[in-house]
Amino acid sequence: MTANILNGKELALSIRKNLKQQVEVLTNKPCLAVVLAGDNEASKIYVKNKLKAAEEIGIETSLFLFDTDVKQSELENLINKLNEDKKVNGIMVQLPLPEKIDEKAILNLINPVKDVDGFHPYNIGLLQNGSDKAVIAATPKGIIRLLENTSIDFEGKNALVIGRSQIVGKPIAMLLLNKNCTVTVAHSKTQNLESLINQADIVVSACGCPKLIKGESLKQGAIVIDVGINRIDGKLCGDVDFESTVNKASFITPVPGGVGPMTIAMLLENTLIAYQKQNKL
Ligand code: NAD
Repeated sequence: MTANILNGKELALSIRKNLKQQVEVLTNKPCLAVVLAGDNEASKIYVKNKLKAAEEIGIETSLFLFDTDVKQSELENLINKLNEDKKVNGIMVQLPLPEKIDEKAILNLINPVKDVDGFHPYNIGLLQNGSDKAVIAATPKGIIRLLENTSIDFEGKNALVIGRSQIVGKPIAMLLLNKNCTVTVAHSKTQNLESLINQADIVVSACGCPKLIKGESLKQGAIVIDVGINRIDGKLCGDVDFESTVNKASFITPVPGGVGPMTIAMLLENTLIAYQKQNKL
């Protein structure tokens, strides 16, 4: 058995094409404000890619750049200003923020309607309630779309989420629970991870441990979503050992070309949804 490859790049492209068509007919275009503070090289690349993708589909962008020594009050003032600005529909603060900044305080200040990353406690609460009004964080939202693309019947499936971060692990666990999966969340203190992997029909790995998941631990026919972005000797790889799992899984996401492109597409979708809500469309 060789797994079907869940091609996130292709799916993301078709979603972006569809979003572009929706934006094209709008007289006033949606606007995404992006805040980048510090000199984290990976963050600079992520921001560049997000801005480019937004502009390609006709979303207007404004980039707000700050040095590493930015003050908490400067960022808070900017968020307050962007919240008030009627032209701005979405606010995205690239994480991580510089060490001295209270990241949570900044994210909590964003107007939940403009919170296109879905990190505000209000949106996290709506997700927990299973509300369809929740803004869902881009990466977990993209993962669900990839899973839906397999036509899997989620009900009663054993889903294992590896990682419990606010941005991936916890929200994807909640989304899978809302879809009636039986969800287990593993983390760095979890014991006997292999036996949990062995029982899982769906494995979503977001722990940032290169090639942690091997084919031999996997249940035959499991669906494997690899969120990890790691490097071994400069070469990009996920949390999953692709070579050993590809013959055991029924579906698998590649790294790169799986979850990553979906994350960007979902950020664009969240921006358009924010625009529609603010314009009561
Ligand atoms: P994080 O560092 O905030 O969290 C990692 C989680 O993994 C923690 O909860 C930790 O307890 C758990 N963990 C660590 N080692 C473990 C182990 N040996 N066994 C089980 N659990 C373990 O990371 P994050 O921000 O959630 O990101 C996770 C990975 O996903 C990273 O590689 C990151 O680069 C990647 N990522 C990719 C995308 C994308 O769009 N493709 C988006 C976000 C994050």
